Amino acid sequence: MSIIHWFRRDLRLIDNTALNHAIAASGGDVIPVFILDEQLLRGKDVAPARVQFMLDCLRDLDKSLRDRGSRLIVRRGDPVRELVAIAKASRATELCFNRDYTPLARARDARAIAALQAEGIVVNTFKDAVIHEPDELHTGNGAPYTVFTPYKNKWLALPKPPAQMSKIDMLRAPQANVATQAIPTAAELGFNVTQQIQKGGESIAQVQFNAVLTEGRIDRYQEQRNFLAVNGTSRLSPHLRFGTLSPRTCYYTALAARVEKVGRQSATNSVNGTDVWISELIWREFYVQVLYHFPHADKHSFKQNYDAMQWGSGNAAQDQELFAAWCEGKTGYPIVDAAMRQLNQTGWMHNRGRMIVASFLTKDLLLDWRWGERYFMQKLVDGDPASNNGGWQWAASTGTDAQPYFRVFNPSLQAERFDPKGVYIRKWLSELARVPDEYIHNLAVMPPLMQLQLNCVLGQNYPYPIVDHNTQKEIMMARFKAIN
Ligand SMILES: Cc1cc2nc3c(=O)[nH]c(=O)nc-3n(C[C@H](O)[C@H](O)[C@H](O)COP(=O)(O)OP(=O)(O)OC[C@H]3O[C@@H](n4cnc5c(N)ncnc54)[C@H](O)[C@@H]3O)c2cc1C
Repeated sequence: MSIIHWFRRDLRLIDNTALNHAIAASGGDVIPVFILDEQLLRGKDVAPARVQFMLDCLRDLDKSLRDRGSRLIVRRGDPVRELVAIAKASRATELCFNRDYTPLARARDARAIAALQAEGIVVNTFKDAVIHEPDELHTGNGAPYTVFTPYKNKWLALPKPPAQMSKIDMLRAPQANVATQAIPTAAELGFNVTQQIQKGGESIAQVQFNAVLTEGRIDRYQEQRNFLAVNGTSRLSPHLRFGTLSPRTCYYTALAARVEKVGRQSATNSVNGTDVWISELIWREFYVQVLYHFPHADKHSFKQNYDAMQWGSGNAAQDQELFAAWCEGKTGYPIVDAAMRQLNQTGWMHNRGRMIVASFLTKDLLLDWRWGERYFMQKLVDGDPASNNGGWQWAASTGTDAQPYFRVFNPSLQAERFDPKGVYIRKWLSELARVPDEYIHNLAVMPPLMQLQLNCVLGQNYPYPIVDHNTQKEIMMARFKAIN
């Protein structure tokens, strides 16, 4: 009795709920399938970086399966059509997969379930991508949460599903007549990957997570997480995005590390580090449930009155110019430009950087948050519809539990606070690499002769600020006030 396991955002063997079910229920007669979905590959939000990371993950997964006597069945096309074809060829009796919560995924999965059931195949789906699903948490009135702190308190209070860390032994190889194809390269799929992105795969995720723990990054998370030049966060977001690491593994391992620590010494900051890091995992799930319960937020402001917000200057050409400068990291605000170049070059950006550039796009350039949201999706290796939408709407003040519109990031003060020595700025802006400390946060007062000597002439090698922060802030506040 073969069972098809459809891999999607769970590209791992360890602690994989649906896969464990498939192995147990079939006695190891599992057909592991991944389908390269043409619709997603040709979509407007596709990122070459993400495609490359995903293909790395598939190669790693295929190797792990081959080590166990099996292999990954890879197909390309419409997932529903391919699943039906695989089920017919293999005479599988069951399809199982882990649930995905985005509007697009839910529509696709509903089609898949209907098509397979029509063929007489049992379909089983599982909770796996999150520790608590959107429908598990409700306010006292039975409504979904729209404010993070009560959501988090409820999340923490609920009993948690166990991690399933048991090792997977040998598996039966899929039948020879179940056709597969070689895992393509990004170039073979027509993508030109220009960014230097981190490598994907479950094996790497394990190594990376171990390094995060042994280097004490979670212990020191609370103190270090906001400093842009410090490797103070986990950088596991692409792994959580593609499921090369399970959120349960993250949660339980971080808690176990804390218990071990507290056993050795009395409660210290390290306890808070773990708590704050787990809070970030909860933010991830908070945004999953926001998009699930409020799908309008995908295209519209979560707070629907803000759909009336006037974005832009009224001059389309000028707005396009400002947007291009933001995308390229040429706004004349070094902290914004450094963060955008980090994104453009690596496919990842520090969370503090994301908050700063998102605030700058919406509150300083007065451009629609959806422009930035799309650009991020096209560049981020961890690009995720729920977290990205949540992050953008938070910064634009249009979202649930968002930054209030009158609290505006001043990019210069953010730079002084979170990159005090300008290490991050110099790393990503080669044209400012030689600027002395005393001018790095105040380029305007750098003497002209020094600008010349350092090959950093303002307006020539590096732009003057493209807008004035205080002027733009006034305009933005007036527009928000007019709606409130
Ligand atoms: C405008 C904007 C857009 C964003 N877009 C994305 C996105 O597309 N994909 C994405 O995964 N995150 C997004 N984030 C959230 C956050 O910036 C990244 O998750 C984080 O920077 C990833 O780095 P890390 O793995 O080192 O995180 P850590 O600080 O180590 O946190 C651990 C994990 O918690 C989750 N997490 C952390 N912060 C957040 C948050 N604010 N919201 C949701 N989940 C969080 C991530 O899965 C992360 O890997 C966005 C934030 C903003 C402000």
